[in-house]
Amino acid sequence: MSREQLAVQRARRSFQTGRTKPLEFRIQQLKRLQSCFQERQRDIKRALQKDLGKSEYSSELYEMLLVEAEIHLSVTRLAEWAAPRPVEKNIFTLSDDVYVKPEPLGVVLIIGPWNYPWSLTLLPLVGAIAAGDAAIVKPSEISSNSSKVMAELLPLYLDQDLYPVVEGGVPETQELLKQRFDHIFYTGSTSVGQLVMEAAARHLTPVTLELGGKSPCFIDKNCDIKTACRRITWAKFINCGQTCIAPDFILCEPSVQSRVVEAIKKCIKEFYADSPKTSDDYGRIVSQRQFRRIMGLMDGCTVAFGGDADESQGYIGPTVLQDVTAESKVMQEEIFGPLLPIITVDGVDEAIRFMNKREKPLVIYVFSHDDKLIKKVIAETSSGALVANDCIVHFLDSALPFGGVGHSGMGRYRGRHTFDQLSNLRSCMIKQLKMEALNSMRYPPLSAKKLGW
Ligand code: NAD
Repeated sequence: MSREQLAVQRARRSFQTGRTKPLEFRIQQLKRLQSCFQERQRDIKRALQKDLGKSEYSSELYEMLLVEAEIHLSVTRLAEWAAPRPVEKNIFTLSDDVYVKPEPLGVVLIIGPWNYPWSLTLLPLVGAIAAGDAAIVKPSEISSNSSKVMAELLPLYLDQDLYPVVEGGVPETQELLKQRFDHIFYTGSTSVGQLVMEAAARHLTPVTLELGGKSPCFIDKNCDIKTACRRITWAKFINCGQTCIAPDFILCEPSVQSRVVEAIKKCIKEFYADSPKTSDDYGRIVSQRQFRRIMGLMDGCTVAFGGDADESQGYIGPTVLQDVTAESKVMQEEIFGPLLPIITVDGVDEAIRFMNKREKPLVIYVFSHDDKLIKKVIAETSSGALVANDCIVHFLDSALPFGGVGHSGMGRYRGRHTFDQLSNLRSCMIKQLKMEALNSMRYPPLSAKKLGW
């Protein structure tokens, strides 16, 4: 039996003992995960520094605090989430007990990405523990230091049979995908998402797919361009552009393009001084393969500024590309790196047409003072989320279900939404064996008279 099979078998057996059913057990495990984060933050930060050049502060802000807040929310709200949810009654159920009871699904497979290897792997785990599931955690092999530390740390804090970490790359993931799960939660590229869904279909396993895509950002010419560009620059260049909800490209009118370029340039200087390369706050590209892919995307583009790189360090400077066309290479795939193309359009209508010709993205960003314009973009486009006048901050609000649509993914998570996604929302109807006379109309032989027609 393979290591992967064994892990799944153990998790299932442990799940079947009913150990995860009491809420106290789930809360205890969540608190242990919290302790792991508090006691071992140095190990986690060191791994993130090695994998992606993340600074201590950025690791804390974008990886650890997010998970800790999710644990806190789950611990404090679990009793409410797990309680029976009464539903509206109708004339036939007036005297019945009718409710939805969330129950654990079983064994969940969590396949994580490398860009935020801790938060994007452990946020689903928090939901799985809260929902009373067992979970196999498969961190990305690309962020190898984080994967190793996760495999060392989690078994020291969590139930080892219920929540094992299985390390490995493609062959190990494929072996895992042959097993039967009750849910697969995958975060990563759209192409691998298709393979995951194919494998899941063999066992009729439901999936949550948190995928990628090109999230557009429209800047209205009448808005406060300075502030808009400050927010865009922050969101685009965190983690060296390797953020699934980073604005992928800008759409704006030709008359404001040079102001946008200048404003972003100023922000880069403000955030990273004269040298992003030596700034603690500017990260690195995760691998040589990604480095070369991103550099290749600049082919045929006009660099407004940036474009500097150092392969030995996995460094690509913050780069803005101007007058980019829809046909250029950089517009054919998700950039997932620190390149920001600007495409000019003749107004919001053309921007909307441009967006609608492409796959539905994870997010659409729009910067404008005009509420009507914002509502127009909401009404005439589709995406996993829409954020006006800011970028990526919607991920911080766990009340908003996070996810994609179409090629950017399926299923929603964060906070209670993860709990619901990883629970069986079981419909319960409890009737009494009394008042049988009321049922007589449904029993054969049926007739118009009996039905009162
Ligand atoms: P990836 O798809 O290459 O890898 C993700 C996981 O899949 C890894 O654990 C890897 O081992 C496994 N995997 C890779 N190839 C496989 C194969 N052939 N068969 C089985 N398993 C395989 O994704 P990535 O490069 O880690 O992440 C980048 C992508 O993820 C981007 O497109 C980004 O937008 C997306 N992403 C989405 C979200 C979101 O929340 N929607 C978050 C982060 C990243």
